[in-house]
Amino acid sequence: MSILRVALDLPVPQLFDYSCTEANAADIGMRVLVPFGNKQAVGVIIAVAGSSAISSEKLKPAVRILRETPALGRDWLELAQFCSDYYHRPLGEVVFNGLPVRLRKPAAPLTLEQAAAYRISASGPEALARLSGRAKVKRALLQSLMQSECAEETLLAQSPGAKKILAEFVAAGWIERFQPSPQPGRGRFVEKVALNYEQQQALAEIERAGPGYGVFLLHGITGSGKTEIYLRLIARALAAGKQALVLVPEISLTPRLTQEFGERFPDAPLVSLHSGLADGERARHWLQAQSGAAAIVLGTRLAVFAPLPKLALIVVDEEQDASFKQQDGVRYSARDVAIFRARQAGIPIVLGSATPALETYAHALSGRYRLLQLAQRAVPEAALPRVHTVDMRKHKLEEGLAPPVVEALAERLARGEQSLVFLNRRGYAPVLMCPACDWVSGCRRCSTRMVLHLADRQLRCHHCGASTPIPRHCPSCGNADIHPFGRGTQRVEVTLAALFPQARILRIDRDSTRSKGSFSRMLEQIHGGRADILVGTQILAKGHDFPNLSLVAVLNADSALYSADYRAPERLFAQLVQVAGRAGRAGVAGEVLIQTQYPRHPLYLALARHDYAGFAATLLAEREQAGFPPYVFEAVLRAEAEALEAALRFLREAAALAGPPPAGITLYDPVPMSVTRLAERERAHLLVQSASRKALQTYLAAWSAKLHALPQRAVRWHLDVDPIEF
Ligand code: ADP
Ligand code: ZN
Ligand code: ZN
Repeated sequence: MSILRVALDLPVPQLFDYSCTEANAADIGMRVLVPFGNKQAVGVIIAVAGSSAISSEKLKPAVRILRETPALGRDWLELAQFCSDYYHRPLGEVVFNGLPVRLRKPAAPLTLEQAAAYRISASGPEALARLSGRAKVKRALLQSLMQSECAEETLLAQSPGAKKILAEFVAAGWIERFQPSPQPGRGRFVEKVALNYEQQQALAEIERAGPGYGVFLLHGITGSGKTEIYLRLIARALAAGKQALVLVPEISLTPRLTQEFGERFPDAPLVSLHSGLADGERARHWLQAQSGAAAIVLGTRLAVFAPLPKLALIVVDEEQDASFKQQDGVRYSARDVAIFRARQAGIPIVLGSATPALETYAHALSGRYRLLQLAQRAVPEAALPRVHTVDMRKHKLEEGLAPPVVEALAERLARGEQSLVFLNRRGYAPVLMCPACDWVSGCRRCSTRMVLHLADRQLRCHHCGASTPIPRHCPSCGNADIHPFGRGTQRVEVTLAALFPQARILRIDRDSTRSKGSFSRMLEQIHGGRADILVGTQILAKGHDFPNLSLVAVLNADSALYSADYRAPERLFAQLVQVAGRAGRAGVAGEVLIQTQYPRHPLYLALARHDYAGFAATLLAEREQAGFPPYVFEAVLRAEAEALEAALRFLREAAALAGPPPAGITLYDPVPMSVTRLAERERAHLLVQSASRKALQTYLAAWSAKLHALPQRAVRWHLDVDPIEF
C-alpha cells in the first residue's frame, strides 16, 4: 500500500493524501482520479510516500491513476513549485493553471495520432495554375507544398481555414496526406537573406556564449531584423535534435510569424499554444510538446508551461508587453517564468524588443543580461520615420484633427500612399454627457464611464462588458440634448469620411475585428492596396509590415504623460515606437505626426530622436529617486468585497496580522484601487516594497501562510507579486 500526495485544483495551500495499492515512484507527475467530497476530481501526483499523517480509516483510496497520458516530468513539477513559491499561490492551482483544460478533466482520453504530413501529387501543379489569384490562402498552401512536403501542424498553423482547404485538396486528388518517417531532417533551414553586419555580430555573441544558461537582451529598433536572429538560433537548436520555445504577446496578431516559421523550417513540426485553440487541439499540441515530437512551440504566455523534454532555446519576442503578465488566478509573468525555466534547463534565453521593459534594460546595463544592439533597419532602403509634433495650442482643431494632420493625410491620398490614424480608444466617444445637469454615462457596476458605441447604438463598459441602449433623454434631468464628449475610433472614422469622401477608410479595433477571420481579411485588404486610411488602436501597432504606409498620425496620447501610474510613460513610449515603426518600412519614407498640447515633452523629444536609451536613462533615474521598480521589488495584497469599507478593513486586519514589518520591508496603508469598483465588487489594496527580492519573498511567505489560515469570509483576497496594475 502506497500513499499518493495529490495536488488538486483548489485555492488551498495543501496536498491531499490518498491510498493506492499499485503505485510507485514512476507515478509521480501522473494524473490521478480521486474522490473529493461527494464527487470525483482529477489531481496530479506530487509524491508517493510510505505513510500518511491521516489515520487509515479516514484515508480514501484513489479511484484510478490516469496512465493514458505520460507523467509530468520532475523538471515540470519543479517549475510549478517555483511558481507556487514565488507567486505565493497553492501548488495545485499553479499545476492546473499550467495544464490544458482537457487534461484537467478525467474524460475523453486523447489518442495521439502520429504526426502527418502532406505532399503534392501529380495533378497538383496544374491545379495551382487553375486557382484564382484571389484565393490567397489556397494558393499559399499549394505553393509551399510545391516547394516541398510539409508537416500537417505547420500547414494548419498558417491559417484558420487551412484544415478545410487541405481536406478539399486531398479529396480533389491534388495533394496526399501521408505518415512521414519520424523526424525527417527537422533541422532543414531555408536561408532567405544573408545577415547584415550587426545581425552577424549579435548572433556570434550568442553563439560564443555556448549552449548553457544566459539571458540575452536583443535590443533592436523596429525593422532591424530580430526575427532573422531568432530563426538562426532555432535552426541551431533543431539541428541538434532539440526543441525551441517562442513566446509572443498575442498569437492572433502574429500569423506572419507563424507563416515565416513554416516557410523557413519546412520539415520541423511546429505547434501553437494559445487560448484561441479548441480544447482538444490545445491538449494535442501540449502532448506533442511533451513527447518531443513538436520541434517548435510558438505560443502566448500560457505556452511557458508547455512540457519540453528537449528544450534548448527560449525566445520571448516583445518582452516588454504587458500581456505576458496574467492578471487573474496565478498572476505570473511569462517572461520571468521563462527566465527561470532557462536557468533550470541550463539554456540560453533571448528577450527581444525595440523598447525593453525598464526592469530588463536595467539588468542589461548592469551586466546581468547580455545586451545586443541592432541600431539599423535590416532592409537598407527603409529609413526610420521622421517624427514631428503638432502643437494643438497653435491650431484650431476640426473635429479633433489639426490642419497639418489633415493636410498630411490629403498629401498621402494624392500620392496613393497609405496613412494610419492611431488613437487608443475604441467606440465613438469615451463618454456621453448632459450639459444641463453634468450627468455622465457611468457604469452601474464599475467606477468607470460607459463608452458610447454608435455603430450598434449602445453604451458599453470597457471594464466589465456591461451594455445598455443609448438613453434618449438625460436619465437624471430629462434633458433631450445630451452630447458625446471626446472621441474614439468610430468618431474619427466618421470625421475622416466627411473630410475625404473619396478615401477608402478602414477602422481596425477590437470591435471591428471581433468576428473570426475579420482581422486577417482586413490585413489582406491593406496589403492589397484596397485601403487608403486606417483608423486603429494598438491592435495595429504590433508586428505588421505595411509596405505602402507612409504616414502615422497619433491623436490623444497626452493623457498618459501625466498619469498617476508611474509605468504609463514607459508604456506610451513603447507603444508610440511600435506604431511609428509601421511607417516607411520599405522604400517609402515615413512620417509620424503627434498631435499634442506638450510638444516639448521629453517623451516626444526622445521619440523624435529615436532615443530609447536616453529616455530609459531619464525614467530609470526618476524611478531610482522615487523608489520604484526596478530599484525596489513590489507585491500587493488585494481585497474585493461588496462594500469598500469591508475590503479596507480586511487589509487593515491583514496588516496587523503581519505584525510590524522587519527592517528593509515597507508596508503601505490600504487604499482603494484606481478603478475602485469593478463588476459590482469594491477593490482595495496594500502595497509592500523592499529593496531586496529575497527579503520580500521571505516576508510574503510567512504572511501568506497566516492569511491562508484565516477563516473563510465574504472578502476575496490575493497576493500579486511584481504587480503592474494599481
Ligand atoms: P523586427 O522584428 O526587428 O522589427 P523583422 O525581423 O520583422 O524586424 O525584419 C524586418 C524586415 O527586414 C523583414 O521584412 C525581414 O525579412 C527583413 N530582413 C531581416 N534581415 C534582413 C537582412 N539581413 N537583409 C535583408 N532583409 C532583412
Ligand atoms: Zn441632465
Ligand atoms: Zn462596468
